[in-house]
Amino acid sequence: MGKPKVAIHSITGCAGCQLTIYFIEDVLLDLLSKIDLVAAPMIQEKNSKGPYDVTFLEGSVSSQEDLLRVKELREKSKVLVALGTCSSYGNIQSTLSYHKNQKDIPKGIYKTTSHLKSVESSSVDKHVKVDYYIPGCPPDKTEIATFIKDLLLGKTPKAYSKPVCFICNLKENICLLDVGKECLGPVVNGACGALCPSNNHACTGCRGPLDDLNYAAHKEIAKSKGVSGELFKQRIIKYAPKKFEELVKKL
Ligand code: SF4
Ligand code: SF4
Ligand code: SF4
Repeated sequence: MGKPKVAIHSITGCAGCQLTIYFIEDVLLDLLSKIDLVAAPMIQEKNSKGPYDVTFLEGSVSSQEDLLRVKELREKSKVLVALGTCSSYGNIQSTLSYHKNQKDIPKGIYKTTSHLKSVESSSVDKHVKVDYYIPGCPPDKTEIATFIKDLLLGKTPKAYSKPVCFICNLKENICLLDVGKECLGPVVNGACGALCPSNNHACTGCRGPLDDLNYAAHKEIAKSKGVSGELFKQRIIKYAPKKFEELVKKL
């Protein structure tokens, strides 16, 4: 089999996820000898319009243009990977739908809004089938590298499923909840290797809630540490409102 044709594309996002791939210096050169990077508009001038074997797609669907683009990329890609929290869960821009003055937000930013072709911001899988998810804002570079290696070896990449606390405890960090910081480590997927608490910052939940989130139990734990229930809810929905809603419905 020849080298897989890989594309890295972006819709509405900040480009941080793509940059994470380009900054995996230690493995990128090795990977480039094993894949055919046929489209990466951020770093190269000539880009194939497809078809692709694997497409990494960064960003949320936030405009009519994004909507057409995700449908086109889905048709052209054998494997479509949602790269980052915007693409996987919608991220903060989709949480704006909770804002009571949501429709007025653009008016506070732009002089005129008639040029905007916005749609309610959402994850990519609201519109097309996604084969794999690599959440994180931005995602962890080791996880991306492992994902690509697994695909090259013909393995099915496995989603990480342990909380941030798991790695945090292995690293023997002081628990930030115990010193009054609102850490979401117990309820957030921890493939980042507990990056924030290992640097004395509370986890804000950028990888989204765990698949088996026990919302009620953890809300009580947060409350016992002085975090209000409403604040806990705001924090936990911030990056992944739709996923959060699905999990809470199961309670
Ligand atoms: S997930 Fe975060 S880093 Fe990636 S595009 Fe969205 S905002 Fe940027
Ligand atoms: S600091 Fe945060 S991630 Fe670490 S053990 Fe405490 S709650 Fe969990
Ligand atoms: S510790 Fe939390 S906020 Fe920090 S990178 Fe990991 S999941 Fe994201």
